[in-house]
Amino acid sequence: MDRLKEHCGVVGVIGTPKAARLAHLALYALQHRGQEGSGIAAFDAERVRSHKAQGLVADIFNDAILDGLAGDIAIGHNRYSTTGDSCLDNTQPLVAKGRRGEVALAHNGNLVNVEEIRRVLEEAGAVFQSTTDSEIILQLIARSRKRSAEAILDEALHPLRGAYSLAVATRDELWGIRDPWGFRPLCYGTIPGGGHIVASESCALDIVGATLVREIERGEILIFDRTGAVRSHRLPWSEPSKLCIFEYVYFSRPDSIVAGHSVDQVRRALGRQLAHEHPVAADAVMAVPDSSNSAALGFAEKSGIPFELGLIRNHYIGRTFIHPTQEMREDRVRIKFNPVRSLIEGKRLVIVDDSIVRGTTSRKLVTMLWRAGAKEIHLRLSSPPIISPCYYGIDTPDRSQLIAANHSIEEIAKRLGVTSIGYLSHEGMISSSPAGTGYCSACFTGNYPVAFPGLEKFADAPREGEPARSAGD
Ligand code: AMP
Repeated sequence: MDRLKEHCGVVGVIGTPKAARLAHLALYALQHRGQEGSGIAAFDAERVRSHKAQGLVADIFNDAILDGLAGDIAIGHNRYSTTGDSCLDNTQPLVAKGRRGEVALAHNGNLVNVEEIRRVLEEAGAVFQSTTDSEIILQLIARSRKRSAEAILDEALHPLRGAYSLAVATRDELWGIRDPWGFRPLCYGTIPGGGHIVASESCALDIVGATLVREIERGEILIFDRTGAVRSHRLPWSEPSKLCIFEYVYFSRPDSIVAGHSVDQVRRALGRQLAHEHPVAADAVMAVPDSSNSAALGFAEKSGIPFELGLIRNHYIGRTFIHPTQEMREDRVRIKFNPVRSLIEGKRLVIVDDSIVRGTTSRKLVTMLWRAGAKEIHLRLSSPPIISPCYYGIDTPDRSQLIAANHSIEEIAKRLGVTSIGYLSHEGMISSSPAGTGYCSACFTGNYPVAFPGLEKFADAPREGEPARSAGD
């Protein structure tokens, strides 16, 4: 069975009669974390009700549906997956009947030892309804014979290896849970008028008018009850900090605070460092909107080259990755961006993007910019070459499709047709990111902090600290 690769957004709300309404708003703010399907499960004192479907948040819920999701505890989930099974059964929140009543769960991240745990659970009589690794966590929680939330979670989470930021709801409580490595972000805040919210990113707190309290720490479980009380529990084992650096590079929204730091500010620092490492004489700096806007501003600031809005993005189509075949992805790049000819004709351009995965976006954009009359195109990337797939919750394709895993930087420049290319070094990326946090940068190094079956085949991957080179300057 194919393991699903997912990056997702989760939210949990407790202590307000509008719990499902607030979760719904939060899902809007987290739409960038997953566009394939969404769901909300709400508990009142009696029972759980849920609604989930495939598609965008705006298309899935309406007033009647939200009115039907009564209760003062709700969790929600946006799902993104490009591998195979995009069926409704895999859409979350997942709900199961446990020994203490019903439990609903929303998961962001990927476990790496799913098959192993699943086998043990199946031998013990468990029946699975989905192919998500998230259902394994739900089953482990639902099957526990322990009484307190703390004891249940110490037992249920112990076998799990990999990434899990979770919002879990029961009839009486909301749990916000972060794995001991802290791969994926998860924060919490207070809702004006009473209540609490946990969410993947703080932009989901802003949209409901909540006040950010702090990031839930790695290996920490926050247990919220209806009275407004909050208990913090630490898992009785620990692991090194491995926050996904790609959350800062690309994935989180720039208006979010992740691990106590503004994503926008981190991206600007990455852009400044990029300008320092790969300077070039040019007339304008342009971002590939929107994910590289902050990095391009940082590049412009450091280099003194004016920032121009030379590429206009159509906001009414989703992210280019949403369509699984190469042909569909290429069409989408064309309809997603259009150049502003007057800013491009006869100009030496620095184009800043946050990353290159397959090379589809950059190749199409570069062709578009040459056609619009660019004189020189200097591509600058605010992260190092992506050479290895992610197994902890960011959707990246197989190694065979990663352009930097299969080509030298010189070859990439040639294939993309640019005047020059410059990738941020691994060292530069780490030194420009907030200090005091340990990062997972496996996609850039091939060094996987949590082993998974088949890891040996990555043994030939370049090692951490290998310098990114630039070509063609
Ligand atoms: P590609 O066209 O395959 O080289 O993808 C690179 C583009 O997709 C860049 O503009 C990135 O901003 C964006 N990107 C990078 N990683 C991801 C991801 N995991 N999912 C969706 N988009 C991504």
